Amino acid sequence: MSEAQKTHILTILKGMDAPDGKGDVVSRAMVSDIFIADGKAFFSLSVPAAEAERFEPFCRSVEAAVAGIAGISNALVALTAERPAGSAPPRPEPARRPGEAIRQGEAPATGPAPPRKPSPKPGIPGIARIVAVASGKGGVGKSTTAVNLALGFAAVGMKVGILDADIYGPSIPRLLNLKGKPRTSGGRTMIPLEAYGLKAMSMGFLVDEETPMIWRGPMVMSALTQMLREVEWGELDILVVDMPPGTGDAQLTMAQNVPLAGAVIVSTPQDLALIDARKGLAMFQKVEVPVLGIVENMSYFIAPDTGHRYDIFGHGGAREEAARLGVPFLGEVPIEMAIRESSDSGQPVVASDSDGPHATIYKDIAARALAQLELGATASQAPEIVFE
Ligand code: ADP
Repeated sequence: MSEAQKTHILTILKGMDAPDGKGDVVSRAMVSDIFIADGKAFFSLSVPAAEAERFEPFCRSVEAAVAGIAGISNALVALTAERPAGSAPPRPEPARRPGEAIRQGEAPATGPAPPRKPSPKPGIPGIARIVAVASGKGGVGKSTTAVNLALGFAAVGMKVGILDADIYGPSIPRLLNLKGKPRTSGGRTMIPLEAYGLKAMSMGFLVDEETPMIWRGPMVMSALTQMLREVEWGELDILVVDMPPGTGDAQLTMAQNVPLAGAVIVSTPQDLALIDARKGLAMFQKVEVPVLGIVENMSYFIAPDTGHRYDIFGHGGAREEAARLGVPFLGEVPIEMAIRESSDSGQPVVASDSDGPHATIYKDIAARALAQLELGATASQAPEIVFE
C-alpha cells in the first residue's frame, strides 16, 4: 500500500516544474525519504538556502497534490536548506490539533501532552530541540530505540545529533560502530564523530568501553555539560539524548539541568518495567519536561518459521498504562533477531534496512514524537491567560 503511494508521490513530483525553472525535484535528487503513517505523508525537499522563499509556495502545492492521493489525507513537506548560523531551522507544522487521535481507532483517552511553559534553562546555541530517551531500568532497549528514533528524525530531512548520556554504560559507540577519539577544535571544543548522517558524542569515545567508571554526583553533571556545550554540534534540528537508565539522582539532575523539549520513555510490557516506567514519567513531570510518549519495546515476537505471534512479555501493557497515565502511546516494537543483530553490529535497522518493516515502525514512532513536540511548541507559544 504505502510503496504504491510513495511511487505515486514521486510521479506527481516528477510532473511538477520546480519554481527555479531547472527541472523537476525528483530528477535533481532533492527529495528525502518519503515516510507515510496513518494517512499522513512526510518528506522534505533540499534546496539552496537562497531559494527557500521561492520554494515555499511550491511546497504548499506539493502538499495539496499529495493529499489528493487515495489513502493520504494530509501531507507535510518541509524545506531543508543550508542555513546561516542562528536562523530558524525548518520545522514541520503541527501534525494534528490538540484532542485529535494519534491514529484512527486508537484515540487516546490520553489526549496530547499538556501545554508547558517554555523552558527557563539556557538553550544550546544552534540546537533547536533536545529530546531525552529514558527508561525506568536497564536492558529494555532504550539505546537501541534512541538510535533508531534519531535516524527516523533524520529520514524526514532533519539535522540530528545523538548524545550518549549513559555515562555508566555508554553503548552508542557500539550501536553506531564508531571507534576512535573525537578531534578537538582549537584545543577546547570537541568535534563530534558521525555515522549514518548523525553527529554523535559519547563518553565511550573518550574512555574504553571496558573501563569501569566511578562517577560521583557533581562529576556526572560536569561531564554531561561538557558533552552538551563543549562539542561543536553545529546547527541541529534535534539532539537526542540517550539517558542513563533509572530514576536516581543523576537522572533527575540531568532532567533538571538540560533544556529538554520533551522525553520519550521506553518500556517492555512486563509489569515491573512499567512500574519503573511510571517512575520515569513522574521524574520528568516533576521537573516540568513534557513526556512525548511511551514506546513499548520487545512488545511481541513473530516466529520466523511459522509466522505465529507470541506475546512473550504479555503484550499491550504499555499502551494501557499510557492511556491510564494520560500520556501518548508512540508505538510498539517487536522483539526481533534482526533488531538485535543490526543493533549490536553497529548497523541500526533504520539505516541498514531503511524500507523494511522494523525501520517503518521506528519511523512511525519518530513521526508521532515529532507531532507531540510540535504540539508542545505551539502550546508554549500561546499567550498565557492570567486571571486576577
Ligand atoms: P538499554 O539501553 O535499555 O540498556 P539496549 O538498547 O542496549 O538497552 O538493548 C539491550 C539489548 O537488547 C541489546 O542487545 C539490543 O540489541 C537488544 N534489543 C533491544 N531492542 C530489541 C528488540 N526490539 N528486539 C530484539 N532485541 C532488542
